[in-house]
Amino acid sequence: MSRKPDIFPVVVVGAGPAGLMAAIWAARAGARVMVCEQLPEPGVRLLATGGGHCNFTNTLATDDFVRRFGAKRRFVAPAIKALDGNRLRLFFEELGIASHSPDGFHVLPVSDSARSIRDALRQACRKLCVEFRFNSRVDSLQISRGQVTSIRTSHGVESAARVVLAAGGASYPSLGGGASGFRLARLAGHTIIPLCPALVPLVTRETWPATLAGITLPRVAVSMVCAGDVRAAATGSLLFTHKGISGPVVLDVSGCVSAALMTRASVDIMIDLAPDLTIEAWQGHIEKLRKEHGAKTVLSMLTSILPAALAKVVLERADVPAGASVARLSRAQSRKLIVLIKKLPLTITATEGFDKAMVTRGGIDLVEVCPKTLESKRVHELFFAGEILDVDGPCGGFNLQWAFASGFLAARKLHQTAA
Ligand SMILES: Cc1cc2nc3c(=O)[nH]c(=O)nc-3n(C[C@H](O)[C@H](O)[C@H](O)COP(=O)(O)OP(=O)(O)OC[C@H]3O[C@@H](n4cnc5c(N)ncnc54)[C@H](O)[C@@H]3O)c2cc1C
Repeated sequence: MSRKPDIFPVVVVGAGPAGLMAAIWAARAGARVMVCEQLPEPGVRLLATGGGHCNFTNTLATDDFVRRFGAKRRFVAPAIKALDGNRLRLFFEELGIASHSPDGFHVLPVSDSARSIRDALRQACRKLCVEFRFNSRVDSLQISRGQVTSIRTSHGVESAARVVLAAGGASYPSLGGGASGFRLARLAGHTIIPLCPALVPLVTRETWPATLAGITLPRVAVSMVCAGDVRAAATGSLLFTHKGISGPVVLDVSGCVSAALMTRASVDIMIDLAPDLTIEAWQGHIEKLRKEHGAKTVLSMLTSILPAALAKVVLERADVPAGASVARLSRAQSRKLIVLIKKLPLTITATEGFDKAMVTRGGIDLVEVCPKTLESKRVHELFFAGEILDVDGPCGGFNLQWAFASGFLAARKLHQTAA
């Protein structure tokens, strides 16, 4: 007698934050859920987030939060509004994970541990009898008459009434990143917007940043300039590295730089080393010093705002001897100095690649996905959540909030119809 194969009402591909969230909410609605994860355990990338502390959202009001996704804001809005930062914090509190915001912006678990978040999600899945298939890579989706019918894993075929594809992005291959999820979406008929690394350190053509490796500037403004236009800008802290520059302000513009590098050999950026002082204020400051403390060296003037090593780099580029006094600074020299402080140019020739990128820019084309349900417009009962979609946010909990909220939204339609 032949046995009717099990048909799972819901199969989730990928046990990252987006997939785990979708599994929990589909199971809470009574659906039998299976999660296929290629790695031996869930949430491996989640464990690495926020340096192991997991900055899972922030304190911005929902509308401001959504606005930070720029051109993608309309697409992300329904998900973020369905599960905003406050609701996400409440969700974790119900799982026993209290959160706090020590700096008033970043939100982290009080435990300070990404592992506590991951374990709480895994525990919630277990309580809801979610069936995990670890070491189980999904290689294809079977689609019949425009509807998904089953998945093929490294262990065989599983019938599925609905599938949530939450296979993440291409970054950090060591933590499960790769192109297999995009391949599945492409085979299902979806367009993949070309992928590039985002939230990634940048490599400079100039070698002087490497001589300052390890030095942090707490507050600078960085802008990316293309054909005279500013295409991306951010303010925050910058870190010099052995290959160039990093730190939150650089990571925030890195997605635009990375996308531009797909079609050009280099990208120009400008660093404003003193964003709170205008060019006019600097002119007044130097004039005042010239009159009142003319004997002071230009180097000591600069070291009041910059680390000495960087001040020397700026002086060298302005052709001003480090020992020169402010009184002896010519008008042309002081103009050049001010321009360098406000617009220190750097040439970016590369990023540090997917190995060092926190997220992926590009992914499933959003025009082919319904933003209110996250269901495919091409394949019935196929849903998407998390980084596999062409959505990437800045630093500061935006990406995890998106992953959790989109997992929640993808399951909402599922649990309305699945149980
Ligand atoms: C070092 C680091 C630090 C970060 N810190 C933060 C932070 O503090 N705050 C923040 O908001 N964001 C942070 N991020 C970004 C955040 O981790 C991602 O945005 C988030 O994990 C995306 O969730 P996801 O569920 O879409 O994908 P993932 O977390 O990547 O999960 C996808 C899962 O799918 C599995 N998978 C892939 N393909 C298949 C397949 N074919 N079959 C079966 N399984 C498959 C993968 O193994 C993986 O486990 C950080 C990222 C990194 C790398």
